[in-house]
Amino acid sequence: MALKQFEAESKRILDLMINSIYTHKEIFLRELISNASDAIDKIYYKALTDKSLTFNKDDYYIKITVDKENRILTVSDTGIGMTEKELEDNLGVIAKSGSLAFKKENELKEGNDLIGQFGVGFYSAFMVADVVTVISKAFGSDQAYKWESKGIEGYTIEPAERELVGTDVILKIKENTKDEDYDQFLDENRLRYLVKRYSDFIRYPIKMDLTKKRLKKGSNKEYEEYKEEEIVNSMVPIWKKNKNELTQEDYDNFYSERHYGFDKPLKHIHIDVEGTISYKAVLFIPERIPYDFYTLEHQKGLDLYSNGVLIMNNCSDLLPDYFSFIKGVVDSEDLSLNISREMLQHDRQLNFIAKNLKTKIKNELKNLLTNERDKYEQFFKNFGRQLKYGVYSDFGKDKDLLKDLLVFYSSKEKKMVTLDEYVSRMPAEQKYIYYAAGESIERISKLPQTELVAEKGYEILYLTEDVDEFAIKMLDEYKDKKFKSVSSGDLGLETEDKNSSADEEYKELFDCMKDILAGKVKAVRASKRLKSHPVCLSNDGEISIEMEKIFSSMPNHPNIKAEKILEINVNHEVFKALQEAYEKDREKLNLYTDLLYNQALLIEGLPIEDPVDFTNKVCKMMI
Ligand code: ADP
Repeated sequence: MALKQFEAESKRILDLMINSIYTHKEIFLRELISNASDAIDKIYYKALTDKSLTFNKDDYYIKITVDKENRILTVSDTGIGMTEKELEDNLGVIAKSGSLAFKKENELKEGNDLIGQFGVGFYSAFMVADVVTVISKAFGSDQAYKWESKGIEGYTIEPAERELVGTDVILKIKENTKDEDYDQFLDENRLRYLVKRYSDFIRYPIKMDLTKKRLKKGSNKEYEEYKEEEIVNSMVPIWKKNKNELTQEDYDNFYSERHYGFDKPLKHIHIDVEGTISYKAVLFIPERIPYDFYTLEHQKGLDLYSNGVLIMNNCSDLLPDYFSFIKGVVDSEDLSLNISREMLQHDRQLNFIAKNLKTKIKNELKNLLTNERDKYEQFFKNFGRQLKYGVYSDFGKDKDLLKDLLVFYSSKEKKMVTLDEYVSRMPAEQKYIYYAAGESIERISKLPQTELVAEKGYEILYLTEDVDEFAIKMLDEYKDKKFKSVSSGDLGLETEDKNSSADEEYKELFDCMKDILAGKVKAVRASKRLKSHPVCLSNDGEISIEMEKIFSSMPNHPNIKAEKILEINVNHEVFKALQEAYEKDREKLNLYTDLLYNQALLIEGLPIEDPVDFTNKVCKMMI
């Protein structure tokens, strides 16, 4: 029989497949099942719409059979089948979809690359088989045909026998090699696993004859093996079901089944978008922080399906980093199955879905915040840090999307509040949103810098996480109100002015103290914010003392320092002692200045440079 030549491009692809070093050869099964499912889709539609045909749902299925002895694996379907011409056109010529046109010839050297990039459908069978035989009978035709190829040399087509309409793809599985285990593709457990893994949600039943054991008749200890047909896939995925049909338990089960976490989901989000690009998604917010969340092992991303066929797990392009805690699946009929990791970022449909998901997730979080505050705060405790990173990453690109999801501890409410709640309570004359940064709520509440703002009766947001102040600086304002640190130079309070002449009055003393501190502070000033405390540190410029602490704890220690101001409370008894020392005993002024500076450092939670010297000086005061 005449051996027909493959069309030139197909030949090259085939060559790549046969000699493939691709590590995920197993995907051939997904490709064949997906083709079978497409073929059933076509006839299913006909049967559903053509009144002259009898319709029986049970007639549509895919069957996988294994003949271990002869190394034969068959994928059969009851789909639309192919005519002689279609066998020739479809299997003799590859890539009608034009996938190859994407790639220039010289880029086609590496098989790995190509499979990863496009997936190559039917031809992937040659990764695992020496001979591929397709027997098909097309809908509306009486004659079946057999297409067969041993690879690169070409293929044959001849009439064949097949009772019903449909297709068998018959693979003669390769012998094991030193590096490759091909036997796995003849192992029913392995095949069953692969079906579950890659094709679980194909909407037609995928049947296999599975080996079972039972007691031999008349015996109570001897077993015999027998085969029983089983449907291996679950067919209707949870995301394709109607929300109203599903219980919390269904979602919880799905969450565990997919190994999204050992906990229960705190919240699920079921999305069904119909439009120019339609997609469905079931997403989860975990109840607890995954054990590997802050390790390199953690992979963000969603499982991506194209109409029930898995394209990839953990598709990272679907989620921004600040939503990396979200788990779940996305399925869209508008996505090409052959979409690859490399091409993803440029895929219009995928970009649309990613953008849409971002807004949906945000809205769901907002709902949770409004309607289930306790749950939201639990969520925020675990993942709020991510949202704050989101506010300042990419130069604040998404800060407007995220700002309403932030909550901070309030000095007045003694609980977490949103920026909106803060602003809506602001008295008319209050100009700024005040905040104080520090290690913990307890420590911040004792900071002398908060005294004046607190006395004014203004609410202060306590920022206790290292990212907080960076996020606030990126936000800059909320509802036209600027943020202001209680440690900043100008607090924007009228009462501040009453000490404005003090700096002039005590200039010489302050300059002298500044010299004593030899470059450790930018200036010594009369404090406008201190009430009962004698001393504190504040900062000029953009870098706060809290930010300096964070920079210095970074692995590469960027040498970024706050411009520190030593503030002295001129109404405090201690100030009198300073004045006296300045006039009578410079030695004492040195001592006092040094002690006060170190005290201010301690209050700020900054390390003092020489603790031994400091304690010696304290002792000196006592004797
Ligand atoms: P793709 O599925 O991306 O179009 P393939 O190389 O996998 O590329 O398949 C080429 C064509 O062969 C399909 O488009 C389809 O028309 C036909 N085909 C493959 N498998 C089957 C099948 N089981 N039944 C009917 N037609 C099939």
